Amino acid sequence: MSVNGIGLNGNITDNNKDVIYFDNSATTRVDSRVAEAMIPYFTQIYGNPSSAHVLGREMHGCLDKARQTVAKLINCAPHEIIFMGCGTEADNFALIQTAELFKGKGRHIITSAIEHKAILETCHFLEKQGCYITYLPVNGKGMISLYDLKRAIRPDTILISLMMANNEVGSLFPIKEAACIAKERNILFHTDAVQAVGKIKIDTDDLGVDMLSVSGHKIYAPKGIGVLFVRKELKERLTPFMHGGAQEDGLRAGTENAPYIIGIAKAAELIMEDGYDENTRIRSLRNLFEKRVLNEIPFTVANGDPELRVPSISSITFKYIDAESVIGYLPQICCSLGSACASDQEMASHVLTAMKLDPVDIRGTIRFSFGRFNTEEEVNRAVDLLKAGVEKLRQISPIYNQQAGSG
Ligand SMILES: *Cc1c(COP(=O)(O)O)cnc(C)c1O
Repeated sequence: MSVNGIGLNGNITDNNKDVIYFDNSATTRVDSRVAEAMIPYFTQIYGNPSSAHVLGREMHGCLDKARQTVAKLINCAPHEIIFMGCGTEADNFALIQTAELFKGKGRHIITSAIEHKAILETCHFLEKQGCYITYLPVNGKGMISLYDLKRAIRPDTILISLMMANNEVGSLFPIKEAACIAKERNILFHTDAVQAVGKIKIDTDDLGVDMLSVSGHKIYAPKGIGVLFVRKELKERLTPFMHGGAQEDGLRAGTENAPYIIGIAKAAELIMEDGYDENTRIRSLRNLFEKRVLNEIPFTVANGDPELRVPSISSITFKYIDAESVIGYLPQICCSLGSACASDQEMASHVLTAMKLDPVDIRGTIRFSFGRFNTEEEVNRAVDLLKAGVEKLRQISPIYNQQAGSG
């Protein structure tokens, strides 16, 4: 069946059945349990939660429960959860609304050089509005230094925003320690936890953060749903990001996207039920992959911090070769050039650049990211394919033959 030329047919999945999906940091497949939980909210439970009638009240109750579940995942109060359109919106909201609220106190914000574009581009926007931004450098492993953070603080610093886990190399920033530094100096602290949720336990109370961003499609819920946690005292002072109705305490107007809110709540429930255990399995898949690649394919390097990183990500540099040609040669393996965002543009990854990788090595770098639905068989098959593919491509690579060839 095809609707208006859009191929809405089963063949899509059939054609893709041999594909190995190692791009879980770009997006995840929706867990079928999540999809099933959402279905009734399209055709059966469809009231507007703002309506006073029975269907409205029913929906209102369902969304309350969903809010409680998501709050439990990150240990905060339900009314500290704001549902929104995506992780990018949560990041925009956090930075733009606090910059607005505290513009009388100061206009300086600290972030890192390796944040997601959702933070970096928002910072560039705020710079145009008259804010000053400090981008903390990282070392060769993609790690910031708390010493640099302390030194960057100025009397007019109003906000520190640091990601919990990096999406290209997986490094885990010391968020608890950084939030503590912020608190001592009365500075707000936001963390983009999009790549960390589900991979490490997140407790907003223990971390001491004021705001935290989550995205649905990185945790087996659909694309197009995000969450921002905002601590109660701060939330009460913020002004609306979207103007309109009274949804989300008037801060983010627009009728709630009920099926997707139910979806992200179901994804949160699954993480709490079994999600942290599954990371042991995902880590061992990642480690098997990395070990085999490094041992069996010559001139390969793993990037990032080997210890302080999420279990799901492996960033590999294949020296003397173009990552793009590897990906082009092995279409069965879904993975990313450095990062999903970088692959759309003819631009070197800002993360690997900040880590001071040689530009030639950056061109040879691929991010593989593992998830819930990957198997050991896929890991072994992918390594076998990579091994043969890389060898073949190096045979015809002039750089390889010049620089490493006979050696
Ligand atoms: C994917 C991602 C985002 C953006 O989330 P969307 O829901 O796609 O807008 C933000 N930050 C990080 C670290 C991400 O990986």
